[in-house]
Amino acid sequence: MAEVRLENVTKLYGRKAAVRDVSFVCKEGEFISIVGPTGAGKSTILKMIAGIEDITSGKIYFDNRVVNELLPQERNVSMAFETYNLYPHFSVYENIAFPLRSPRWKKSFPPEKEKRKVEEIANFLGIGELLDRKPQFLSGGQKQRASLARALVRKPEVYLLDEPIAHLDARLKFSTQTLLREFATKYGSTIIYVTHDYREALGLSDRMAVLRRGVIEQIDAPEQVYYYPATDFVGTLIGEPPINLMDGEIITRDNKAFFKAGKDFSIQVREDLADAMNRVARQEDGKRITRLGIQCDDIKLSRDKISDNSFQLPVYAFVHEAERSVVTFELKDTFLQVRTTERTECRVSEMFWLDFDQDRMFFFKKTFEITKA
Ligand code: ADP
Repeated sequence: MAEVRLENVTKLYGRKAAVRDVSFVCKEGEFISIVGPTGAGKSTILKMIAGIEDITSGKIYFDNRVVNELLPQERNVSMAFETYNLYPHFSVYENIAFPLRSPRWKKSFPPEKEKRKVEEIANFLGIGELLDRKPQFLSGGQKQRASLARALVRKPEVYLLDEPIAHLDARLKFSTQTLLREFATKYGSTIIYVTHDYREALGLSDRMAVLRRGVIEQIDAPEQVYYYPATDFVGTLIGEPPINLMDGEIITRDNKAFFKAGKDFSIQVREDLADAMNRVARQEDGKRITRLGIQCDDIKLSRDKISDNSFQLPVYAFVHEAERSVVTFELKDTFLQVRTTERTECRVSEMFWLDFDQDRMFFFKKTFEITKA
């Protein structure tokens, strides 16, 4: 398998940039997920690596070879798509065997070896019993696993998987994820995996790249992206509920820095954090405005005052989970969600004290307007 390297890769469709100046390395044997909303440019990146789409500028390397000019069949990549792309007139067996029968690989896979490979991967993905069926007699989930088996049946330079399990139900998705992870580890596979589901990226990959409007905003180990989002956008994409964001004014009083949002909300910001806060601030209507982010698990909730920095808000809504509760509070421009560590009985409008864990507060450059959904 190969190391795949993208160097300043840009893709324009007409004047519109689908991918902008993207650079990253997927090391040999590494599993990288690309996560982002629809239209972010995820599939376009995969297609450029596969050679299905031209690159407007930049270079793609497999190990030290530039592959920009190579045709898809010369690149030796293996792809699976969300839309299964199975040949309807072929059986599942023939579909999976298809890549092994191409002129390039035929000689390496005589019938006995072909059979062994097809059965091995089909059994691995739990569709060993379905090899004689035609795709029309498969469920959506079975089709998806057949399509995945076809991509995984042979060892290419890199596996390019585009939402390959998006149509599985939750339980099957979970077990197929486990298998994929096992496959990657067992065979030391280089995998680039596209998904819009951050949980999948968190669970599967060695590293994940968060893409927004064709630009990578963060590429890091999943836990790093989860616990230390680099931008406000990454924060909103990762986590359920996503990170709380609030815009506020920086105020200095007696040499101390405060973050103030609306007339009722103000907290003193620790000295070391104040620097970070000042760095991302910008001037708006004569005020210095910054964006604070804090995850729902990093706010303490109590009926009693917790510290000098805690503040009171009325409950707006709440949802109980089995052993925890998510309580929502309303602020001027946004909602604030808190996940408690135990199930917390409460009433709408009841007042609670909230306390932010300053070790887990982030200040971001404001890159979009918060809408109160
Ligand atoms: P994602 O996979 O993240 O949903 P895509 O890579 O499919 O995003 O698309 C990125 C952007 O490029 C989108 O705005 C999409 O409309 C545009 N795009 C994709 N393919 C084409 C094409 N063949 N012609 C014109 N625009 C395209």
